[in-house]
Amino acid sequence: MAQSLQSFHTFSLPSQCQHFYQIDEVNQLLSTDFSGPFCILGEGSNTVFLSDYQGSVIHMNTKGIDIEQQNDGFLLHIAAGENWHQLVAMTIANDMPGLENLALIPGTVGAAPVQNIGAYGVELEKFVSYVDYFDIATKTIKRLTKGECQFGYRDSIFKHALKNQAVITQVGLLLPKKWQPVLSYGPLQQLSEPSPQQVFEQIITTRNSKLPNPSELANAGSFFKNPV
Ligand SMILES: Cc1cc2nc3c(=O)[nH]c(=O)nc-3n(C[C@H](O)[C@H](O)[C@H](O)COP(=O)(O)OP(=O)(O)OC[C@H]3O[C@@H](n4cnc5c(N)ncnc54)[C@H](O)[C@@H]3O)c2cc1C
Repeated sequence: MAQSLQSFHTFSLPSQCQHFYQIDEVNQLLSTDFSGPFCILGEGSNTVFLSDYQGSVIHMNTKGIDIEQQNDGFLLHIAAGENWHQLVAMTIANDMPGLENLALIPGTVGAAPVQNIGAYGVELEKFVSYVDYFDIATKTIKRLTKGECQFGYRDSIFKHALKNQAVITQVGLLLPKKWQPVLSYGPLQQLSEPSPQQVFEQIITTRNSKLPNPSELANAGSFFKNPV
């Protein structure tokens, strides 16, 4: 059924798709029609629909976070539709630091490995244990280790060999119990022996001073790569 996409991407342009699948449970992917053109969508903060999309939009909205305590770290199993910043805030509030430099990056956990999100000297790959995906061809869930994800600067296997082949369903992040702050970037250098909470707050202050909140002023963030 046709569906407006205006509220499903941060540029908020008026556009529609032919079919819209809202995925609240992973097993709904089994009955999703991938035979025509399709676009997997999280929160649409890195996606712009300039005109109507002639195909299906698959909106990943699965929720759930499981925390497994290990000897030297916390292994988090996170559903793809969880909001990234809310995850970061939850980890900081619960004494599981590590992700603070990545605070306030818009979007979902499921989209984060696609471009290996990064900011202020830290990239997602530092914490990735595994990425689970629904393999469209075989209709099965497969697991990639960090190494198999082929992470690079704003890059991963999901932009290459697995482009249009995989729907990321769950991400495993390992947060070491021993906190190793990264304070080499910009305003973080001014902090003297900060707590994770202070780094988290400084990142939020800095980011809020640089880029408008997409919910207040439609935008799609920065361009990370020179198109040439
Ligand atoms: C104001 C602003 C600031 C930003 N700052 C940063 C920053 O500091 N660092 C940074 O790295 N990025 C930044 N971004 C970009 C954006 O936050 C990331 O790319 C984020 O990971 C996008 O998440 P999303 O859920 O909105 O993805 P979407 O825009 O919905 O999707 C992005 C891509 O991932 C694919 N995708 C989404 N979900 C899945 C899934 N479950 N399985 C497979 N493929 C999927 C989509 O098909 C699409 O190709 C910023 C964006 C904005 C608007």
